[in-house]
Amino acid sequence: MEINNLEKTAKELLSFEGKVKGEVFNTHAEYIKQREGEEGLKKGEEKMAELQVPLEFKKIRSLSWQKEGMSVLMLLVCKKIFGWTDDDIFEMGRFAPKVSFIVRVLARYFVSLDKVFQESPRYWRRHFDFGELEAAELNKDENYMIIRIKRGETHPVVCRFYAGYLKGFAQISIKGSDIGVEETKCTYKGDDYHEYKISWK
Ligand SMILES: [Zn+2]
Repeated sequence: MEINNLEKTAKELLSFEGKVKGEVFNTHAEYIKQREGEEGLKKGEEKMAELQVPLEFKKIRSLSWQKEGMSVLMLLVCKKIFGWTDDDIFEMGRFAPKVSFIVRVLARYFVSLDKVFQESPRYWRRHFDFGELEAAELNKDENYMIIRIKRGETHPVVCRFYAGYLKGFAQISIKGSDIGVEETKCTYKGDDYHEYKISWK
């Protein structure tokens, strides 16, 4: 989707009720700093202010509840001001669990494939006050698992972010190589939920 009217999109996103843990802004900030430096982070904050969504990364605490719409808007702002593609957003998602404080806390559950799979809905609830994650299928013979996400609708850019996130998360928690993530169902394609197939070798 083209970003031709970011202001209008900002208003729509801000009206979304769901909240996310502030940690996501810390991981956004880390990735932006790595790619675009402190300068880039400042640029991002300026653009948010311009959109009437003031955001100071440093003031957001990991465990506070923040608007999910503001997190999604930040992804769109990065695309706009840095010229990032959906692949960059995927990478931003993949990077997030690797630097997330919450993921480090939950890492005690990463003892087996079964445990990672079983605990994944709880993992969602630790991060979001809306929607749900369903651990749909674990196939240990063919090395894949199916995860379904129902999250209400904000913007399709999130589908790529979560695909990247799941890949990064799988890289940490699954002891496999060659990890792949594919979104096999999507509400933006008429399905009832977003479905991701995570595979490994
Ligand atoms: Zn989707």
